[in-house]
Amino acid sequence: MSKGIVFSIEEFAINDGPGIRTAVFLKGCPLRCAWCHNPEGQSFRSEPMRKKDRTEVCGVEMEADELARRVLRGRDLFDQSGGGVTFTGGEPTAQGPFLLELLALLAGVHRAVETCGHTPEPLFRQVLDATDLMLFDVKTADPERHRYYTGVDNALILRNLATLKESGKPFIVRVPLIPGVNDSLENMRATAALLQDAPGLQRVELLRYHKTAGAKYPMVGRRYEPPFDVNATPAVHDAFTPAGMKLLVL
Ligand code: SF4
Repeated sequence: MSKGIVFSIEEFAINDGPGIRTAVFLKGCPLRCAWCHNPEGQSFRSEPMRKKDRTEVCGVEMEADELARRVLRGRDLFDQSGGGVTFTGGEPTAQGPFLLELLALLAGVHRAVETCGHTPEPLFRQVLDATDLMLFDVKTADPERHRYYTGVDNALILRNLATLKESGKPFIVRVPLIPGVNDSLENMRATAALLQDAPGLQRVELLRYHKTAGAKYPMVGRRYEPPFDVNATPAVHDAFTPAGMKLLVL
């Protein structure tokens, strides 16, 4: 039985796949997105998180079967609502063996995985096989901008996106809409082009940037100095709708 590190478990989640879900946040991410609103999910280690009146430990080690039992407490609700479990983070595939074990233990429950796609390709295929729905983040189509704003280019991400498209597996694309970073019509068209010929694509969700993203950084001892104007309003283009995709702005 493998162990992993978890920084939050949220029951009654309604924005991370169908129905009512339990969202499990696995700690650690290979990216450093300038707009990340979960900075406490980036490090692979537990760390102190200083809140107004107390300091909490962010990140606890759990065994896979212990966590699976915890998720299964919601099974009646999942069955009634058409929900299930969603693994997110951080980047859940960065704890590959732990995630794969959890997905196997929870077979029979609807399983979704939210990923940035920066995952070794063999592991990505294994996760895909064991998952009912993927929530795949696409930050920008431009490799240099991707590297500048997230710390990695998007070559591996785009290869995994191609694998996901070919698989026919249901998936939702999530695009964080960051003013001046990826909200140009040119980038939206390039992103929409990446999503052509994807029979499993259910919809594209544009996620609005929230200024409150910076609030948690001081809690984990970091400064928040994003290289974009946090007060600007991102543009919303209809680049996706001509492709016949459902567009949801959250
Ligand atoms: S991929 Fe997600 S969790 Fe990782 S740094 Fe980017 S926004 Fe944060």
